Amino acid sequence: MSLYVDTSGRATRSVAICDRCHMKMAYDDLAPDGNVPGLRVCGACTDRFDPWRLPARASEQISLRFPRPDSPLTGSSSSESSTSAIAGEAIAGEAIAGVS
Ligand SMILES: [Zn+2]
Repeated sequence: MSLYVDTSGRATRSVAICDRCHMKMAYDDLAPDGNVPGLRVCGACTDRFDPWRLPARASEQISLRFPRPDSPLTGSSSSESSTSAIAGEAIAGEAIAGVS
């Protein structure tokens, strides 16, 4: 291992010290740490980014974009019967269990 860090041919001719391993290396080799951006660390000391710091996963869109109301199962095709069924009124000719 050489005594001096060779910085020739690099963009910055400077030497810096890694904040984790305290090894002297070229300034260009240091980068801010993912979890602690205030630290300038070398590539071997860079932590994996904490997945809890990532944005939350987007939920799936499970609802229909253009829903249509259900058609009644009584077989009647008139819109009045479905309206009265929604309002809770009894339709003539239709027997409701338990109600006379
Ligand atoms: Zn280091």
